[in-house]
Amino acid sequence: PTVLGIEGTAWAASAALYDTETDEVSISSDAYQPDSGGLHPREAAEHMREAIPAVVEDVLDGADSIDAVAFSRGPGLGPCLRIAGTAARALALSLDVPLVGVNHMLAHAEIGRHRSGFDSPVCLNASGANAHVLAFRNGRYRVLGETMDTGIGNALDKFTRHVDWSHPGGPKIEHAARDGEYAELPYVVTGMDFSFSGIMSAAKEAVDSGTRIEDVCFSLQETTFAMLAEVAERALSLTSSTELVLGGGVGQNQRLRAMLGEMCEARGVDFFAPEARFLRDNAGMIAVLGAKMLAAGDTIAVADSRVDSGFRPDQVPVTWREETEV
Ligand code: ATP
Repeated sequence: PTVLGIEGTAWAASAALYDTETDEVSISSDAYQPDSGGLHPREAAEHMREAIPAVVEDVLDGADSIDAVAFSRGPGLGPCLRIAGTAARALALSLDVPLVGVNHMLAHAEIGRHRSGFDSPVCLNASGANAHVLAFRNGRYRVLGETMDTGIGNALDKFTRHVDWSHPGGPKIEHAARDGEYAELPYVVTGMDFSFSGIMSAAKEAVDSGTRIEDVCFSLQETTFAMLAEVAERALSLTSSTELVLGGGVGQNQRLRAMLGEMCEARGVDFFAPEARFLRDNAGMIAVLGAKMLAAGDTIAVADSRVDSGFRPDQVPVTWREETEV
């Protein structure tokens, strides 16, 4: 089958085609770039409205037939989700094919499992609005650890906004950190959960009181990524899993990948991070998980397909996986 994926949770208006026969994924995305500051939900929704038709047309160009339409039901910004959801319903109805409602965080996690061929990995999702450590057990992805306040990417973006760097801030922090040295910042892991807001306040105070910005960027990466690695390592230990996959836009960061790679190597665990186009928000991951759900008969009636901006990964009964012992 061929599945059309639609992604529109925040900044990326994205469409993709996934062909299960060839395992090929083609993605067309249009990013919303704020003129100033961070993401403005209304502007992001306006961008979604303008950009979705063209990205859909782009991937449908030359497609023979579509067997289902999969879309992100949440979590994300309500106004964006509603526009992308409306587009997905209209397409499913006009093409007369089933509709599949995908949890965006599970798509971030599943794309790494799909591309790696791993059986039962621990998944670290390091995205803009979220940070989760997930593992599959008894029919659900369990949230073993998560942020107690902001997502990791949004935290980094808040710091760069403070120093007037344009959105998104993560790549700029990565660049500046290359010339940095360690400056102390608080490290906050409580049990299996982490918090980023105190670190961001301390980082802002540090630059305001004259610490070199390169040093603050270096320490921001070292501190927040070590927190993620610590919880991921504990999750590997708790589940006895021998596989870790990375997901989410912050997963594009080379320092985070290197730290996780080292930790896994020291534990004798296999580590996989998908290529960049599958890490940042993209409809490819929605189409791939959508195809697995379709194969399991896990489709949704249009009448029941309302979006959910607070949709948690552990709310989803996992229909597309066999239970495997970890
Ligand atoms: P979510 O998937 O939780 O809804 P999101 O929609 O904001 O989040 P993603 O595309 O997963 O999106 O991630 C975007 C985030 O990734 C931004 O906060 C951005 O700063 C961050 N990011 C992108 N590249 C890098 C990098 N090289 N280093 C660190 N952070 C990065």
